[in-house]
Amino acid sequence: MRVDEKIALDAFRQDSEPHIRLRQERCAPCPDRVCLRVCPGGLYSLAETSGEVRVECSGCLECGSCLSSCIRGAIDWSYPRGGFGVRYRAG
Ligand code: SF4
Ligand code: SF4
Repeated sequence: MRVDEKIALDAFRQDSEPHIRLRQERCAPCPDRVCLRVCPGGLYSLAETSGEVRVECSGCLECGSCLSSCIRGAIDWSYPRGGFGVRYRAG
């Protein structure tokens, strides 16, 4: 089974409060934007009009890859509140 097939089996309960926030003033001058490449869920993207970096909290695997790879400290990251977030089903 491929990784994306395993991820597709996971269940998510989305919190109304985002558990990841970006400090746009730090993202704007970022030249590498590694967050766009490291997220296994592909949850980081660029807004079409503004070009701002965006993150979609729904579908977060809570792996922390984005947090550990952003050397600018632009990511305010915490686990979702109790009862919310990912429930793994395939290890
Ligand atoms: S989250 Fe970090 S790596 Fe991504 S654009 Fe912002 S500063 Fe750059
Ligand atoms: S914690 Fe992992 S899955 Fe969630 S947004 Fe960051 S890199 Fe993506």
